[in-house]
Amino acid sequence: MTTANDLALLSDKARAFIHRDKGLFIGGEWRAASGGGTIGVVDPSSGEEITRIADASKADVDAAVAAARRALGDSAWADLQPFRREALMLRLADAIEAETRSLAEIETLNSGKLIGNTMLFDAELPVHSLRYVAGWASRLNGETMDLSVPYLPDMRFSGFTRRYPVGVVAAITPWNVPLCMAVWKLAPVLATGCTIVLKPAEQTSLTALRLAELCAEVGIPDGVVNVITGTGAGAGRMLVNHPGIDKINFTGSTEVGREIAVSAARNFKKYNLELGGKSPLVITESADLDQAIPGAAWAIFGNSGQNCCAGSRMLVHEKHYDAVLAGVREIAGSIKIGPGLDPQSQVAPLSSRLHRDRVSAHVEAARASGADVFGGECLDGPGSYFSPAVIAGLDHGHSTAQEEIFGPVLCAFSFANDDEAIALANQTRFGLGASVWTRDIDCADRYFDALEAGTVWINTHNILDLAMPFGGDKESGVGHELAREGVLSHTRLRSGIKARPSR
Ligand code: NAP
Ligand code: MG
Repeated sequence: MTTANDLALLSDKARAFIHRDKGLFIGGEWRAASGGGTIGVVDPSSGEEITRIADASKADVDAAVAAARRALGDSAWADLQPFRREALMLRLADAIEAETRSLAEIETLNSGKLIGNTMLFDAELPVHSLRYVAGWASRLNGETMDLSVPYLPDMRFSGFTRRYPVGVVAAITPWNVPLCMAVWKLAPVLATGCTIVLKPAEQTSLTALRLAELCAEVGIPDGVVNVITGTGAGAGRMLVNHPGIDKINFTGSTEVGREIAVSAARNFKKYNLELGGKSPLVITESADLDQAIPGAAWAIFGNSGQNCCAGSRMLVHEKHYDAVLAGVREIAGSIKIGPGLDPQSQVAPLSSRLHRDRVSAHVEAARASGADVFGGECLDGPGSYFSPAVIAGLDHGHSTAQEEIFGPVLCAFSFANDDEAIALANQTRFGLGASVWTRDIDCADRYFDALEAGTVWINTHNILDLAMPFGGDKESGVGHELAREGVLSHTRLRSGIKARPSR
């Protein structure tokens, strides 16, 4: 595999950022980690170290939380009128929009992802996200109502509710859509008047650091946005356990999510968790195969399968099974695998060698169990390239069919009728996404009601929209991000009851 000379391909702006020293952004200032620790950042397409980031210590986490707490009560932020918070968010959106190309380049270099993908999802989607959520700043409202108070029939009361910022938010993000996730966490914080300490995944922290620079440039008051880098087991764990945190907004694996929920329960922090998945994609007897075959292939091969909702279990009606399996394998075999910065590449390297080893181990476990495996090879040479895999003949209870792999690995199964398909689809501890492919509206309705998932797609897969709440059932999460729910979950609701004069 030839790798592009990545740094030489970058715009001047992106290259200048890569060469700058990276620190922690605390209280509006940049500083090195107090213990002097740094972590190497590797380009997954070449395997080479491109820069180093700070490894935050306990003292740094304390300082970041203290800065966020100060800013929460400081009049520069607490008394800023909602329309001014909205204006700041719109200014930040403009600043990101002016830099989409360099942000996408930094993200591609850091995560290995395709430049087309980072342009759309890491650079442009945050702009829309900020603009969408900005409007909520001046539209947050409570309610008023006349109360009955049945045990005091001679008195009159009115009731009202008011929303306050929930407080200091600890935001922890994964490495698969780094800047998008950071902005999805930041936007409701700014709209509701909260403050934030963001810890991105150590592998892909670069765009979050650039985001911090942009926050300062557009005039977001010091301490409202703090970005600390470091490991999950170190800085991440210290942050979520910190008593100065009011709410945790986490996206990542189910295992870490479980640990966070237990820790949050100790002092009743609010939290929402966006976790893993093993999403079924059901191709029914009434499906349009011209649509369903490429739909199924890209539901798992898109972003190299590193999507939380990736359609990793494909269930196909027995009448179509052979045709669909052959069609998906044909697509898998013709995909051009290459570096993310090469616009010809269709699938980019996995996020790291370590991750590729994990993905490969799942494929090998399936092969060892006697399954029929197409693709799924580690490619020679530098970088962490891996060919898309399509596995048939696997027991549905096998770990490869049950565990989240987070790579381009599809497990295919056939079913004889809809009851069997629904039972198979729901045979998982996860409940993040699911899709059904059909031309029959009654069939679509039936699956929509029966599939156990936070999002159910019909004749599509993996589509998210800012106006749609996003969250998982079962072990895929607690609460929702995006839409109205995602904003309101950053508020604290207070009820007021007022005695009124009797008539
Ligand atoms: P991960 O290992 O759970 O890490 C996620 C984040 O948590 C990273 O920033 C990580 O830091 C940090 N972390 C790790 N251990 C921690 C701890 N004990 N306390 C606090 N923070 C800790 O997940 P990942 O491998 O980065 O991402 C893949 C996972 O994310 C998959 O399971 C995927 O399904 C899930 N995901 C879910 C969604 C969704 O919306 N539902 C979206 C995208 C991804 P370090 O990386 O620096 O260790
Ligand atoms: Mg990690």
